[in-house]
Amino acid sequence: MKKFNFFNKISTKIAMSFSLTFVLTLLVLNLIIYISITTHINTLEQSLVIARKEVILEEVNNIISDCTILGKEEISNIIDKVSSHRDQIYVNFKFPEKTYQNFDKIALPYTIDIDQVGEYHFMKFQKNRFFYLNTMIKAPSGEKIYIQLISDLKASDSLIDALISTMILIDLVGFIFSIVTGVFFAKKTLKPINSIADTAELINLHNLNKRIETSNHDDEIGRLIKVINNMMERLERSFENQTKFISDASHELRTPLSIINGYVDLLNQWGIDNKDLTEEALSSIKGEVFNMTDLMEKLLFIAREENTRCNLNLTDVNISDLLKRVCKEFKMIDKKHTYSIHNIPDFYGFIDEKLILQAVRAIIENSIKYTPKNKKITISYEQEKSYFKIKVSDEGIGIPKKHIPKLFNRFYRVDEARTKDTGGNGLGLSIVKSIVDMHNGHIFIDSDVNKGTTVTLKLPI
Ligand code: ATP
Ligand code: MG
Repeated sequence: MKKFNFFNKISTKIAMSFSLTFVLTLLVLNLIIYISITTHINTLEQSLVIARKEVILEEVNNIISDCTILGKEEISNIIDKVSSHRDQIYVNFKFPEKTYQNFDKIALPYTIDIDQVGEYHFMKFQKNRFFYLNTMIKAPSGEKIYIQLISDLKASDSLIDALISTMILIDLVGFIFSIVTGVFFAKKTLKPINSIADTAELINLHNLNKRIETSNHDDEIGRLIKVINNMMERLERSFENQTKFISDASHELRTPLSIINGYVDLLNQWGIDNKDLTEEALSSIKGEVFNMTDLMEKLLFIAREENTRCNLNLTDVNISDLLKRVCKEFKMIDKKHTYSIHNIPDFYGFIDEKLILQAVRAIIENSIKYTPKNKKITISYEQEKSYFKIKVSDEGIGIPKKHIPKLFNRFYRVDEARTKDTGGNGLGLSIVKSIVDMHNGHIFIDSDVNKGTTVTLKLPI
C-alpha cells in the first residue's frame, strides 16, 4: 500500500487545522481578557488615587478654613491618613518656599512638574509602573499649595504578570492538548477509510463476495461503506449472471454441435451413397444449423441489449395496424391454428416498432409451440389510463403456477420433456421482458394447465 508523505495525510491536515483554530481562538480570548483586565485595573487605580486626592483636599481645606497653619506635622498627619488606606500612595506637598513629601528614602522617577495641575500620567521606572496625579489648592492668603499623589502599581502589575504567565501556560497546554486530541480524533475518524481501502485492495474477480464491515457507522462514512457494499453486491450478481449466461450459452451450443458432429461421423463411416442416411443427416444438420442461427441471433440481441436500451427508436405507431399485420403473417405461416383478433380500435402508441413486433411475435410463437392443433390463438387490445395492453391468449397446455415467476430467467424452460419436440432455448420470454422493460412497461402471464395461457404486455402510451 502506498505510504503518504506526513503532511499529505488527511489526518495531519485535520489535526493541524483543528489545533490551529483552537490555539488562535485561545489567543484571541486571552488578548480580550488581558486588555479588559488591564483597562479595568488602570481605571481602578485612577479612581483610587482620585479618591485619595479628594480626602487630602478635604483635610487641607478643613485645616486652612480653621486658620490653622499647615505645618509639617499637619501635613504628615494628612499623609499618614491617606497612606494608611493604601501603602503604595506617596504624596508630595509643594508650597512657594518649602516642600514636604513622604518618599524621601524611596527612589522615584523624576517628579513630574508639580505645577502642571490636573494632569495625570502613567510612567514606568525600574520595571515598575507609577501613576501620577497633580492638583492645587489656594490658601486664604492667596498662597498656592501644589499637591502630587503618586501611586505605585507594583501590586496590580504583579497580578497582571501572574495573569500573563497563567495565560501563556494555558496556551501551551492547550496547544499540546489540541494537537494530541486532533491527531487522535482524525485517526479515529479516518480509520474506516483505511479499512475500506484495505478491503478494496483484497477484492478481485475470485473473491467478489468480500464486504467492508459496517458496524457502528451511522454517518457519512457508514453511508459510503453501504454504497460501496451495494455496488459490490451488484457487481458480484452481474458477474455471476454473466458467468452463468456464458456457461448456459455454451451448453446450448454444445447439443446441436454434437448432433451435427454425430451425423458427420456417421456419413464418414457409411459414406454418402447410403441415400436414407444422407437425407436424414442433411435434414437434421439443417435443423440444428437453423436452431443455432436462431440461438445466435437471440444471444446477439441480449449482448446488444445495453446499447439498444439507450438507443430506442421511439415513434408514434398505429398499434391496430401492427397487430393486424402480425395476425395476417401468422395466419399465412401457421395453418394448424385458428387466429382471431379482438377490440382493435385505431390507436397510436409511442414505441420502438421493431422491438415490440419482435416481442409480440415471440409470444405468438410460444402459443403456436404449446397449443395443440386446431385450437384458437386470440390477439386483443385494451386501454387503461395512461397504458395500453396487448394480450395474446391460447388454448394450449398451460404453465404450472410455480414456474410462472421463473419464465423470464434466461434459458429457463418449464420442463425439458414437454419442450423436446418443440425445441427452443428458453430465451424468448427473457428477451420479451427486457424489451418491455426498455419501454418502462410490464409483462404478466396468466395460465391454467391444459386450459391455456394469456400473456399481457402493458405499455405506457
Ligand atoms: P425460445 O423462445 O428461446 O425459442 P422457449 O420458447 O422454450 O425457447 P421461452 O419463450 O422463454 O422459451 O418460454 C419459456 C418456457 O415457458 C417454455 O419453455 C415453455 O415451457 C413455457 N411457455 C411459454 N409460453 C407458453 C405458452 N403459451 N403455453 C405453455 N407454455 C409456455
Ligand atoms: Mg419461446
